[in-house]
Amino acid sequence: MHQPLPRVSILVVDDRPENLLALEASLEPLGQDIVRADSGEAALRAVLQTQFAVILMDVRMPGMDGFETSALLKQIERSRHIPIIFLSAYTEDANRLQSYESGAVDYILKPFDPAALRSKVSVFVALRQNELALVAAHADLERRVAERTAELAAANLALEHEIRERKGMEQQLIDQAHHDNLTGLANRALLLEHLSRAFARSRRRARPSFAVMLLDLDRFKVVNDSLGHLAGDRLLTDAAHRLQSCLREVDTAARLGGDEFAVLVDGIDDLKDVTRLADRIQKRLTAAFDVDGKEVFTSASIGIAMMDPRYERPEELLRDADAAMYRAKDAGRARSQVFDQEMHTSVMEQLHVEADLSRALDREELYLVYQPIFALHDRQIVGFEALLRWRHPERGVVMPADFIPTAEETGLIRPIGRWVLGEACRQLAAWNCRLTMNVNVSAQQLAHSELATDIANILGTTRIDPARLKLEITEGTMMARVETADQILSKLHAQGIGLCIDDFGTGYSCLSYLHELPVTTLKVDRSFVQRIGVSNERPEIVRSIVSLAHNLGMDVTAEGVETAEQLERLRQLECEHVQGFYFAHPLSAQDAGAAIARA
Ligand code: C2E
Ligand code: MG
Ligand code: MG
Repeated sequence: MHQPLPRVSILVVDDRPENLLALEASLEPLGQDIVRADSGEAALRAVLQTQFAVILMDVRMPGMDGFETSALLKQIERSRHIPIIFLSAYTEDANRLQSYESGAVDYILKPFDPAALRSKVSVFVALRQNELALVAAHADLERRVAERTAELAAANLALEHEIRERKGMEQQLIDQAHHDNLTGLANRALLLEHLSRAFARSRRRARPSFAVMLLDLDRFKVVNDSLGHLAGDRLLTDAAHRLQSCLREVDTAARLGGDEFAVLVDGIDDLKDVTRLADRIQKRLTAAFDVDGKEVFTSASIGIAMMDPRYERPEELLRDADAAMYRAKDAGRARSQVFDQEMHTSVMEQLHVEADLSRALDREELYLVYQPIFALHDRQIVGFEALLRWRHPERGVVMPADFIPTAEETGLIRPIGRWVLGEACRQLAAWNCRLTMNVNVSAQQLAHSELATDIANILGTTRIDPARLKLEITEGTMMARVETADQILSKLHAQGIGLCIDDFGTGYSCLSYLHELPVTTLKVDRSFVQRIGVSNERPEIVRSIVSLAHNLGMDVTAEGVETAEQLERLRQLECEHVQGFYFAHPLSAQDAGAAIARA
C-alpha cells in the first residue's frame, strides 16, 4: 500500500514563548502539526484533544513542572504511551534520572542542536505514522471483511432462495409427472413405483403383504356420452374422492386412464380384508352421485390380485388383476373377482396361444375345413363356408373360438385372414365348379384398405368370378365398424362380391346399416334355429328375420340346423338356404371335393 504517510501532531511545552518558537522552528522541516502549550496544565488539556506522536517538554515551569506533568500524563489512559522528551538547561544526573523515572524516553540539554533534535523527534514521528497507518490498514481490512461478509451473506440468501424455489419447482414437476391431472390421484408411473417397492419388500418376507385392485366404472361411457365430457370428468373426480376415502394412508389409489382405477392395498395378509375393502368401495360408489344437479349412478367391476411368491415382476400382478376385472365385468358388473388358480391357468394358456399362434402361419399349422350350404327347396349344395382350424403340435386341433379372439387382440388376424381368403379361393378354383365360397372376415380386416387389394389380387390369380365369393361379417362387427369399413364394403360390392351378416339376431342392434350397406344375405344365428321345436316355442324370431330379409331383397341362410323338425319349420318360413350338422359337418378339402363330385 503506497498511501501518503499521515500527518501527525507534536506537542511542545514550555513556559517561555521564545523557547516555544525556537522549538517550533527547528521542528517545522518535519512537516507535521505542532501544538504549543505554555504550561503543564495546558499540556494536559491539549493531550485530551489530540493524540500526539511525541511530547517535548521543558522541565522547569512555574506551577506544574515537567516531571509532575509527565507523571500525570502517564496515569491518563489516552496519553500513557506518548513518548516524552524533556528539555532542560540543567545537567545534574539526578535530574536526568528523575526524568527517566517519570517516563521520559529522552533528555536533551539546552541549548539544543536543532538537527539532532529533529532527528530524534523524527523517529517518534515515524513510529506514530506507522502506528496510524497500521490502524488505518487494520480498519480498512476490517471494513473490507465486513463488506465482503455482507456481500457473501446476501449472495447466500439469494442462493438459498433460489434453491428453495428450484426445489419447489422440482417437487411440482415430480408431482405432476406422478399424478393424474384430473383427479389428483397417483398415475400409472407412481403406482408402478409404489408397487415395485411393495414387491421388493414382500419378496423378502415369508407371507405376502399386499394386493392390487383394478376398478372399472360401469356405465361410465353412458354418462359421458349422454351428459357430456364435463359431467364425465365430474363423475370421475367424485368417484376418485370416494375411492380415496375408503383407503388408509399406506394404500395408493391411482387413475390409469379413462374410467380405470387401481389401488395398491398395502400391509395386508388376509384376502378377506381385501374383499371386505372391495365391498366397502363398491358400496360407496353405488350411492348416487350428484353431477350438476342430476342424480347419476354407477358401480365398479373390481379385479383383485393378491401378492404371491410365484410373481416375478410387479406388472404380472397388474395383468392378473386386469384379467380378474374382466371376469367381474363379464359376470355382470358391480362385483369383484379375485384372481385365482383357474384364471391363472387360462391366462397362461392365452399367453402360450399368443406365442404359438405367431408361428402357426409359417409352420403351416393352419388349415381350412368346408361346411356345405344347401338350397332348402332341392337340398342341393350351393356353396361352402370356409372354417379355420389350427393343428397345434401339442394340443391337437384347436377350434377358432379358442384362438380367433387372441388373433384379433394381437393383430395376427390380418395375416391369418389374408391367408384364409387366399386358401379358400385357391380351393374353390381347384374344385372347378360353379359353387360359392363364404369366408369369415373380422372387424380388424375391415379397418384396413389392404383387404380390398388383397381380394382383388386373389380373385385375379385364381380367376374366380367375384359373385362366387361371399364375405361373412358378424352383426357385432357391423355395429362397431369404423368408417373405412363402409368404403371397403361398397368397393367390394361394386366388384360383385356378396356380403352376409353372420350370427344375425344376436346384436341387439339398430338395423339401419342394412339399408346403408349392400348386404345380400342374412345368416340366422344358430341359437334361434335350435330353439325351434324346443318346448313348443314358436319360431317368431326366425319368422321376423326371414320377412325382414325378404322385404329388403336379401336371402336367408339358417345356421346350425340339426333336426328334421327344424328343417321343416324353416321350409315353411321360406328360408332359402340351410347349413348344419343335419346335412353335413365341416369337411376336409378332400371330402368336400368328393361331395361336389357326387352332387
Ligand atoms: P360362424 O361363422 O357362425 O360359423 C359357424 C359355426 O357353427 C362353425 O363353428 C360351425 O362348425 C358351427 N356349426 C355349423 N353347423 C352346426 C350345427 O348344426 N350345430 C352346431 N352346434 N354347430 C354348427 P366353428 O368352425 O367352430 O367356428 C366358430 C366361429 O369362428 C365361426 O362362427 C366364425 O365366427 C369364426 N371363424 C371360423 N373360421 C374363421 C375365419 O377364417 N376367420 C374368422 N375371422 N373367423 C372364423
Ligand atoms: Mg360364418
Ligand atoms: Mg354364424
